[in-house]
Amino acid sequence: MNLEIFVGLLQNGAILLATTLLYDIFWSSRSDVKSVRYGIVAGLIIGLVAILLMMTPWTMSPGLFFDTRSVLYLNSALFMGPIATVVAALVGIVYRAYIGGSGVYMGIATIVLVSVVSIIWKKIFPNWRKSKDWVHLLSCGFICHTIVLSAIILLSDSQDRVTMVKNMSIPFLILYPLISLSVGKLLINRIENHKVRQKLELSDARYESFIDTSEDMIFMKDNSRKYIVVNSNFCKALSKQKYELIDNSDDTIFTGEMSKKYYESDLYVINSKKTVRYEEVFPDKVTETVKFPISLGYNITGVAAIIRDITSKYKMRELQEVLLYLSRLSLVDNDLDVFLQKVHFNMKKVINADNFYIALYNKEDETYSYPYFIDQKESIEPGFKEQLKGSLTDYVRIMGKGLLVTPEVEKEINNYYPLKVYGEYSQVWMGAPLMDSGLKEVIGVAVVQDYRDVAAYTQEDFNLFEIFANTIGTYIEKLEFVRKLQKAKESAESSDRFKTIFLANVTHDIRTPLNGIIGFSDILQSELDGEEHKEYASIINSSAHKLLYTINSVMDIAKIEAGEITVIKENFCLVELVKDLNRFFAKNPKSKVKIIMSTPLDVEKFEIYSDKMKLEQILINLINNSLKFTINGFVEFGFKFDNNSYTIYVKDTGIGISKENQKMIFERFKQVDTHQKVKAVGTGLGLSIVKEFSELLNGEISLESELDRGSIFMVKFSREQ
Ligand code: ADP
Repeated sequence: MNLEIFVGLLQNGAILLATTLLYDIFWSSRSDVKSVRYGIVAGLIIGLVAILLMMTPWTMSPGLFFDTRSVLYLNSALFMGPIATVVAALVGIVYRAYIGGSGVYMGIATIVLVSVVSIIWKKIFPNWRKSKDWVHLLSCGFICHTIVLSAIILLSDSQDRVTMVKNMSIPFLILYPLISLSVGKLLINRIENHKVRQKLELSDARYESFIDTSEDMIFMKDNSRKYIVVNSNFCKALSKQKYELIDNSDDTIFTGEMSKKYYESDLYVINSKKTVRYEEVFPDKVTETVKFPISLGYNITGVAAIIRDITSKYKMRELQEVLLYLSRLSLVDNDLDVFLQKVHFNMKKVINADNFYIALYNKEDETYSYPYFIDQKESIEPGFKEQLKGSLTDYVRIMGKGLLVTPEVEKEINNYYPLKVYGEYSQVWMGAPLMDSGLKEVIGVAVVQDYRDVAAYTQEDFNLFEIFANTIGTYIEKLEFVRKLQKAKESAESSDRFKTIFLANVTHDIRTPLNGIIGFSDILQSELDGEEHKEYASIINSSAHKLLYTINSVMDIAKIEAGEITVIKENFCLVELVKDLNRFFAKNPKSKVKIIMSTPLDVEKFEIYSDKMKLEQILINLINNSLKFTINGFVEFGFKFDNNSYTIYVKDTGIGISKENQKMIFERFKQVDTHQKVKAVGTGLGLSIVKEFSELLNGEISLESELDRGSIFMVKFSREQ
């Protein structure tokens, strides 16, 4: 190939390349590629390109020159369709005819043949691009150029044919198909490129609309911390336009302190490659930010954040805490004023409550009193009362339903309930009934109001306020309940005191003459002569003793009831106590049954720290019972001990107590039917006193008994007392 051919090829190549670019710019993105108009315009342009190609040919022999127009027409037919190719072919033919020369027919034939064959190819293989496009480009190129070569040879002078075959076979059968393939591939590549770009644009649009419609605020920043993506909610929150944020960094948007804070968190996210989460409390809202790194493989290319408005969640959380606190408070605090102050303080954390009052309703005189009244414009005298007929407060009480009153709502209410304004008029007013705990009666109304801002309260605030009102209502009810309880307790206590005083007086009045009866019947017993009279005196004496015992028991129980029994502990010797009792019962035999005292062997002294009188009383009551319910055998009493404890006991061989009766004999006034085995007289108080006293001394009572065999009563005390 000589230089001229090379230059010509290069020029042609450049023009074809330019054509593919032209295609890329003007056609690949158009949607009307199939229209006639498009075909004609495209055809004219391709025709012009063909002219350009024909103007930069390389000459084979004088009048016979070549160019790459065949490649152009082939690709035009395959990519632009028949109309464009026919138009382009006509332009090409006219121009070639105009140039003239010896190769004019060959030139025109080339245009016609390539165009026709390629158009047919496209008709036969309409989807040629779908699979193995390069096979189609190559084979179509090869066939077209074989036909063109054949035509040129046929049309040439017969003496030139051999040289022509020699010179033109390689370019026509190899070079041209390869160039057709390259140009075709380039065009396909442009088409694919365009498709990818379209998809990208689509996904960009989708992504943008996705983040724009998100209820969250979203942004992305690059590594230099400039905003690259912001969604509309983020812009709205900052009251800025998108263009004011994009390509700007925080220091031009926020105050120094905030920008520094954001800078630090960005830096942390970028350096640590970790997601951070934080909450921010603004005057009008609370947000939760999740900030995370944007990474491309291992490289962090910036930070992104999703910011969610959690005001209502935050309020709920706060409210829960506040309510928990108030419910605890309501249990311990019994001062309404202090309680309401605390409620007010906490309520302010959740809703606008600068003006807050409680109006309690008094049914008797139909007035309202204000146990709590905090207002920016008004004040009231302590103890102030008023009737609030026609007021919103009264309306809420009557309806038993809370109200969020804006000027429109007020107008609406006015239509059927003429309202009257008391005090200063407020822009917005919120009232909730204070119900009694049975939710039957409205005891008052809780109110918050705002003098300036109509939009001071949302429906959500109203719901929260109702919860506060509920808490207050319950608390006031509780106070009332506590007050009643206190009153009841006081009256119960005074009646109890009265009972005790009465009993003390009565028993004193009975005991004094009884002692006289006992003393003088004793004297009579020894002084009287006749056996019969002695017997009478003895009956008087023992009856008086029994009566005294009963009175003492009743007195003890009364004192226990009144909580007037006190434990007086001292150090004393238990052996001594047992010996004293033994002496007492020996001196005053109550029955013929033998009494045995039993103390641990070799123990002369056993010091304990306890209430001597009560321990003595326990033993006396138990011994008396045993004597009462034992006919034959003996009654044994005493104590045992080990390192940690000692047990006093009374054992008898009496009538015993059945299992079922064992449980109830310690109750007051409980006696067991003894089936006339013994003539039991008593009050049913002895054992209950034993039980009460034992418990007072931290003793543990136990009983082992079997019917007709006897019983053993034991009380065990710990030694470390
Ligand atoms: P009371 O004044 O009737 O004796 P207590 O409270 O002392 O009242 O006793 C309650 C009942 O327990 C007696 O009525 C009796 O039935 C039964 N009881 C108490 N001690 C004994 C005992 N040692 N043996 C059999 N029964 C007994």
